[in-house]
Amino acid sequence: MSNLIEKTKSAYEYPLLIKQLFLAPLSNKPNQQIVYRDQLTLTYKDWKERVHRLANALTSIGVTQGSTVAVMDWDSHRYLEAYYAVPMMGAVLHTINVRLSPEQMVYTIDHAEDDVIICHIDFLPQLEAIKGRILEGRKFILIDEGGEVFKHHFQFEGEYEKMLADASPEFDFPEFDENTRATTFYTTGTTGLPKGVYFSHRQLVLHTLSTTAALASNSVQGRFHQESVYMPITPMFHVHAWGIPYIATFLGTKQVYPGKYVPAMLLKLLVSHKVTFSHCVPTILNMLLKEPGTAQYDLSNWTCIIGGAALPKSIALEALKRGIDVFAGYGMSETCPVLSLAQLTEKDLDLSIEEQTELRSRTGRPIGLAQIRVVNPEGKDVPCDDKTVGEIIVRSPYLTQGYLKDHVHSEKLWEGGWMHTNDVACVNESGSIRITDRTKDVIKVGGEWLSSLEIEDVIAKHEGVSEVAVIGFPDINWGEVPLAIVVPKPDAIFEDREIIQTVKASVDNGVLPREAITMKVQRAEVIDKTSVGKINKVALRAKFAQE
Ligand code: AMP
Repeated sequence: MSNLIEKTKSAYEYPLLIKQLFLAPLSNKPNQQIVYRDQLTLTYKDWKERVHRLANALTSIGVTQGSTVAVMDWDSHRYLEAYYAVPMMGAVLHTINVRLSPEQMVYTIDHAEDDVIICHIDFLPQLEAIKGRILEGRKFILIDEGGEVFKHHFQFEGEYEKMLADASPEFDFPEFDENTRATTFYTTGTTGLPKGVYFSHRQLVLHTLSTTAALASNSVQGRFHQESVYMPITPMFHVHAWGIPYIATFLGTKQVYPGKYVPAMLLKLLVSHKVTFSHCVPTILNMLLKEPGTAQYDLSNWTCIIGGAALPKSIALEALKRGIDVFAGYGMSETCPVLSLAQLTEKDLDLSIEEQTELRSRTGRPIGLAQIRVVNPEGKDVPCDDKTVGEIIVRSPYLTQGYLKDHVHSEKLWEGGWMHTNDVACVNESGSIRITDRTKDVIKVGGEWLSSLEIEDVIAKHEGVSEVAVIGFPDINWGEVPLAIVVPKPDAIFEDREIIQTVKASVDNGVLPREAITMKVQRAEVIDKTSVGKINKVALRAKFAQE
């Protein structure tokens, strides 16, 4: 006999739609606050009305189920409105990466088939630069927050606030299949053209539930809950700001949106709203820690997940000394994103901060609903010895099912039924993963693989070093040797050989493999960053290693 559940004709099936995340806080936290910079405070009730108004405004210009609405904005309550209104209408939200080159931007706008683009006035120059190639068949909405008047050739359907004010505060959000596409955005982390990833309502709901459970269930450290005060410091175009705005809204947490990232404003908001929870890439945390005058701010109630790149131990240590509860999270654009977290147990908190640094900067343990394996080229799991490396492959109900309209790369991504991350890692006996590199960043010295991240960690501890990135440099004898690109701190005086000495000392202590002493040093004023603020090794290789 089949034991498939029987469905009573009138039973409600409850599709996993973003709408369900939206309804939750409105019934239990209607007066909770959503703040925008030092400019605006809304209650969830006010914000709900704005979401309904946005849906009506978009309908009035022709958006229907299946349309694509793109956004170019800073991190704001408006972006959060689009996170909900657009998918809840049955349309697709395309979060445009505002830092793409004009060529890439045209490509993504065309490829995603954007029908409407909501654009903050600050990004008009970017749109104007590509106007000839994107005007036809598209509608535009302007977010005018004042500021510089920029000459442009766009006929806007209206100004965002005015359109909301003119729209009705009631919209009847439809129900539809939970497998409907809700969001799309592009990753430039791989080679070639940007690749579109996409997530359904069901996937976003499951990601929210899985990540909420992981963050809320750890006993003491790295927790996020209803009493938290949340501020993202990750652009909202980058993997739905790591999915945390959906979690914050679902929980009814106070949310603070910082707009354009200005270090002084970020610090002011952190302190004045007593923000307890944020997330960012390591370079942003480094920037905040180095901002003149930060020492005067008490950041000891602040928890910050570091993701998008490995958390360098030197930054983790500096943050811990400031009382910041810092730890790593791992994920990719393709994975919605959260896969693992380096949360600590109560017992771990008895360790010295130096020892905690080791644990907090690991890649961590898989969260519920994320299956992670580290496998050798034959597809066998590597031993849990924290040494043997392999590729991370993953499964979870919320991974992109492919790259948009790109069959070839989709098949490659999902080869063998597991998603291939191209991240190289090892696992310790307690199941905690540690990424040692990206496949393409590993350096092969005389046949031995060297982890660029491990060498970076060692060099970053040198007191004169502000930032460092290590790449492979072609070498006639070794095939490749590590090249450390070092940005000195202002006024720091040291010689390159001191950096080499630091690495040599780590080789002598057994921290780094012997081959690391083949390293060369190159000084630079800045280290190139990607559009989401990560170290851009492709650009560094082109500049310094003439690939
Ligand atoms: P993106 O698609 O831009 O979000 O980049 C994803 C990539 O960032 C991953 O494949 C990793 O290489 C890297 N990454 C993200 N989080 C971490 C982490 N905690 N440790 C090391 N690398 C990370």
